[in-house]
Amino acid sequence: MAEFTAPDFLKIDEILSDEERMARDSVREFVSKEFMPLLQQHIRQDGSFPMELVPQLGELGMFGANLQGYGCAGMNNIAYGLVLQELERGDSGLRSFASVQGSLCMYPIHTYGTEAQRERWLPGMAQGELIGCFGLTEPDFGSHVGGMLTRAERRGAGWVINGTKRWITNGSVADLAIIWAQTDQGVRGFVVETDRDGFEARDIKGKFSLRASVTSELFLQDVEVPDENRLPGAEGLSGPLGCLNQARYGIAWGAIGAAMACYDEAVQYVKDRIVQGGPLAGKQLTQEKLVYMLTEITKAQFLILRIAQLKDQGKLHHTMVSMAKRNNVDTALQIARMARDLLGANGIVDDYQAMRHMVNLETVRTYEGTHDIHTLILGEHITGMRAL
Ligand SMILES: Cc1cc2nc3c(=O)[nH]c(=O)nc-3n(C[C@H](O)[C@H](O)[C@H](O)COP(=O)(O)OP(=O)(O)OC[C@H]3O[C@@H](n4cnc5c(N)ncnc54)[C@H](O)[C@@H]3O)c2cc1C
Repeated sequence: MAEFTAPDFLKIDEILSDEERMARDSVREFVSKEFMPLLQQHIRQDGSFPMELVPQLGELGMFGANLQGYGCAGMNNIAYGLVLQELERGDSGLRSFASVQGSLCMYPIHTYGTEAQRERWLPGMAQGELIGCFGLTEPDFGSHVGGMLTRAERRGAGWVINGTKRWITNGSVADLAIIWAQTDQGVRGFVVETDRDGFEARDIKGKFSLRASVTSELFLQDVEVPDENRLPGAEGLSGPLGCLNQARYGIAWGAIGAAMACYDEAVQYVKDRIVQGGPLAGKQLTQEKLVYMLTEITKAQFLILRIAQLKDQGKLHHTMVSMAKRNNVDTALQIARMARDLLGANGIVDDYQAMRHMVNLETVRTYEGTHDIHTLILGEHITGMRAL
């Protein structure tokens, strides 16, 4: 695979701090040198994540990178976003691993947990010694999780949880699961160690998308947890939605990484590919596609950069994240499809990246609020009316 050159048309590099550039560059190097050589084998075989890289990801500060304390890297939200961009430049499965660990599992413990819970779990999670998964979606409730059937009932000093969660990233490799369940007081979140009696994870096979990522179904049958495993600060659906907002923010950065990989590959390819006596790069239709790609990447970079500033200033509104997730993932998907097209038949094999990113981005468009759901969120924000 040729060396990656990142598109930076409007010289964003110049407005980044040294720390932000360093964080980005160290992950860029890790992805090129350590991750990419392993990727094809994990995708071709059974579809698995290269777990052997988890300790290095921990050392690089990739888990909970924008959280403070407890062994987390404490990056600002621009550095954190750039890191996720670089991870997804490698593969959406790699960024998903970091997003689930950091935004969906460490964030709720950090934000909704007690001091004892933070000290118990976060340092090991930051190092990658403890892996988390986030159990919100159920077989019958994805976009509308308020209808979830999983229930936690009080029993003595603790709780008993019953239910099924589906499409759970890292489910079968996790040491602990953040499980969202209905209770008599509404939705509550629990940290459930996966070796508890009654907890089972089974992997979902046959995925075309996110093959370098483990996706599982979780079965909880009379799983008992003590009350000290309940996250006391999470009350109602705002608990899981707060986590999703963190993850969506990272996805909006990550999608740019996937788009950059596709663009870079397409530019290199069309310069070398000779059609009708000359390079494909010299054809007007090719150039129109490349112009679209670079323009949309540049717009997406500035959209999320401004949102990162607002997030660091504490001025972020969740609708802003919806706009960035919706736009940047959709844009990246269009770019991946265009790049795949420019590569012709070569574009359908895994010696090239475009098709892998393209099918990955189909998942990214669906999870963490589908494209349609973010449209509805923004539509309600504009009109004040919840669309039916
Ligand atoms: C690889 C992968 C990993 C995942 N990882 C996790 C994880 O770690 N944890 C977790 O909890 N979940 C995870 N998910 C689940 C994901 O979040 C859900 O798939 C997503 O929320 C969509 O839910 P659904 O699949 O049930 O689709 P549905 O909600 O059934 O949606 C189907 C279609 O209907 C549309 N739709 C839904 N509601 C409306 C409406 N009101 N109006 C108009 N259109 C509508 C949607 O946009 C979509 O096009 C993962 C999914 C995948 C594919």
